[in-house]
Amino acid sequence: MNSENRFDIIVVGGGMIGAAAALGLARQGWQVAVVESAERESLLSALSPAKTVDDFEPRVSALSLASQKLLDGLGVWSDVAACRHCAYDQMSVWDAEGTGCIRFDAAEMAVPALGVIVENRILVKALMTAVVASPIRLIDGVSVTGWSGQGRYKSITLADGRKLDAPLIVAADGPQSRVRQWAGLPTREWDYDQQGIVCTVETAQSHGFTAWQRFSATGPLAFLPLINDAGESRFCSIVWSQDTDESRRLMALDDARFSAELENAIEGRLGQIQTVSRRFAFPLRQRHAKAYIGPGLALIGDAAHTIHPLAGQGVNLGYSDVRVLLEELGRLRAAGMAPDDPDTLARYQRRRKGENLAMMAAMEGFKQLFARDELPLRWMRNAGMRWLDGAGPLKNRLAAQAMGID
Ligand SMILES: Cc1cc2nc3c(=O)[nH]c(=O)nc-3n(C[C@H](O)[C@H](O)[C@H](O)COP(=O)(O)OP(=O)(O)OC[C@H]3O[C@@H](n4cnc5c(N)ncnc54)[C@H](O)[C@@H]3O)c2cc1C
Repeated sequence: MNSENRFDIIVVGGGMIGAAAALGLARQGWQVAVVESAERESLLSALSPAKTVDDFEPRVSALSLASQKLLDGLGVWSDVAACRHCAYDQMSVWDAEGTGCIRFDAAEMAVPALGVIVENRILVKALMTAVVASPIRLIDGVSVTGWSGQGRYKSITLADGRKLDAPLIVAADGPQSRVRQWAGLPTREWDYDQQGIVCTVETAQSHGFTAWQRFSATGPLAFLPLINDAGESRFCSIVWSQDTDESRRLMALDDARFSAELENAIEGRLGQIQTVSRRFAFPLRQRHAKAYIGPGLALIGDAAHTIHPLAGQGVNLGYSDVRVLLEELGRLRAAGMAPDDPDTLARYQRRRKGENLAMMAAMEGFKQLFARDELPLRWMRNAGMRWLDGAGPLKNRLAAQAMGID
């Protein structure tokens, strides 16, 4: 292998998680390559101003304070913050089948905001701009089609026949990770037989810089606040989890009927739904790799775990993977050691698996709790929500944990 195709670390996948990991690793002084199947022009293309619902990207992320801090440390948060984003200082969660309700308030927790909603393409553009300006070798517009895990250097093959190698491969190639499959790392996964309907809506009333979430037996409906370029706060990105048959029915409705059903589902809290963008439906699956590492391999982000979007934590868990991987590999770099040290990779896995599994279990618990319709359970969960809402310090502690500022 000539030196042009040999690196310390190759990151497969330059999405929101892989690009951040590559930036952090390059800053530590490792020689890093990123392979991303999308073309850089599409990732770096200028954003059109958002005036109407169709101008927003339907996929957004609710970034926790911990994720913002990581991006700030990588030098990209100021770019994200200079673009369209919406900080929210309230969160309202309630039970469709009762009177239980919990409200979270940034002022009560003495933080400037509970989180920030950012369109995914804004995040990717800011990260990719930093990657292009860094010493990282970005190989874009081509997929990884094979891997060989034999020997000291792990080798990957690209669709155009090129081969690259490195002692460590970081797989950030998303939920269907081919690298994870080639390495033979098994997953535990289950299908919810649900889909998440995603789109942008314009409402009659302002969202009040609040993230709204209503739980019903079939799943949660989230209204995540957005602002357009004129600063108007009547736009929300919605994620509506529904059983697959119901989702298909909703997707087939015309805009007027869909808007009416959506308005009904959110109990008219933001007034009339005035316009709705094109809709997308994603199958919902929870998936967890039984091992995040192999010899010379580490999985991060959705390649290691995908969770139900009900708490909007997918990207935040991925950024926690990045933070811990950087801490562990930074120590190796400082000690002049190779990046594939097995003890270090094992420590990365140990530190991340517990938190990811706990979050997945919590999501599953929530999902099951709200799926049950029996009267005693309904009564208990409503009473529990009301109790938690009144238990200030405990409520704020739980919220702080979810925000990564505990
Ligand atoms: C309906 C829905 C709503 C969601 N809402 C939220 C939310 O509100 N908040 C939140 O935090 N999370 C949310 N998520 C989850 C979030 O989208 C994921 O956690 C996040 O996208 C994971 O980022 P990633 O970089 O690990 O993977 P991805 O975003 O999937 O990126 C993987 C990258 O790898 C590239 N790639 C893949 N294979 C190859 C290959 N062979 N060669 C080269 N490149 C390759 C892809 O092109 C892509 O750029 C939601 C998910 C769904 C389905």
